[in-house]
Amino acid sequence: MITELTAAAVVSSTIAFAEPTLSEDLSVTLDAMASSALAADREAYLEHVWDGEKTLHQEQWAWAKDLARIAPDVLRFELVGEPAIVDGEAHADIKITWNTENWESHDRTIDVPVRFIEDNGKWLYAGRQWAELEGDGVRVLYADGLGESAIRALDIWPEIKQNVEEGFKRTLDHPQVIKMYTSMPELQFSIFPAYVEPLGGWNEPMESIKLVGFDFSAGHLRAVLGHEYAHALTFSIPPEEIAVERAHAVPWWVHEGIAELATQGFTPNRGRAQMAVEHWHRRGELQAWEDLSDFYTVDPSHYGQVYVQGRHMVSYVNDTFGDDARIEWIESMMMGATLEDASEQSLGKAWSEIDADWRTLVSEAVEERDRARAAEEVKQEQESDADSNQGTKKESADPSKGG
Ligand SMILES: [Zn+2]
Repeated sequence: MITELTAAAVVSSTIAFAEPTLSEDLSVTLDAMASSALAADREAYLEHVWDGEKTLHQEQWAWAKDLARIAPDVLRFELVGEPAIVDGEAHADIKITWNTENWESHDRTIDVPVRFIEDNGKWLYAGRQWAELEGDGVRVLYADGLGESAIRALDIWPEIKQNVEEGFKRTLDHPQVIKMYTSMPELQFSIFPAYVEPLGGWNEPMESIKLVGFDFSAGHLRAVLGHEYAHALTFSIPPEEIAVERAHAVPWWVHEGIAELATQGFTPNRGRAQMAVEHWHRRGELQAWEDLSDFYTVDPSHYGQVYVQGRHMVSYVNDTFGDDARIEWIESMMMGATLEDASEQSLGKAWSEIDADWRTLVSEAVEERDRARAAEEVKQEQESDADSNQGTKKESADPSKGG
């Protein structure tokens, strides 16, 4: 009897003191990340995240910050297969399953290869595993299959950097990180779990520029990287401690307007933006600026207007008051001024007046276009009348057709 008890105790103590496997250790971290995120507990979540890389940590901080807005209803991080130790890090494939109240379909899932870094006997989450290319003032991190796109991005980066920096008259004091995804849900999840709108690119203060696609053409990269790098330069204006708060306080249309203007080489309003704004004016659909200002409350059916109406106004400010005034206007907003104060101080005019002048200009452009169109129609009518008169004369002059 005694012997049996002892044997049982030995067996159970062997189990109790068995070294946990790497899988078990990583699962502890992953489970703790999930439970703290489900509880919208940012501090607890970040205790499991590695802070050795600034961009990654900032992205994870912003991810966790948005849990307070909409926490997930479902969130699981599960190991797929066996993790491995590679150069002292743990590498694992994980399956992420999640859902949020603003998503009206079944749970979303993604499979992602991730890293963990050991710190005081605990494995900390260190984000996705990426392949990497480095260039002058840039690091390109990319998912499998995007090697050629990454090389293309590296090739055209100096041109993009120069063009956008010229328009802002400023530069970054650190290399810009670019992350290239192939999965839209993975990109959305990396921003925050409740992100549901499709997107082509993303940038927030001190974060990487994120892109998604399977094969990025040079033309696409030029447009999307120019746009996102303009955001990065805007976000770099204030001190880092207030960058996130200021980025959200400055109207969304100002951010997208300047980014679109940068992408289009700081050229004046014409072409697509001009036609679109005239079209909205005709239909009475030009939006009030306050309805295009808050990223979280703008009606998704007006997202296009945030960019195009915004581009038109920022370009109008640039053309009317000059690029130095436009730069100072955006800088003072990023430093803390309201749109009203910045307009008064940097442009020397009340914002309400600028808006009214702009609407008058759009309305005059529409009238001018209508007048030109009417004149063109009259001209064409006269020409066709002249043609048919000539035709009649010819006909009657032709004896074979007479009578
Ligand atoms: Zn943008």
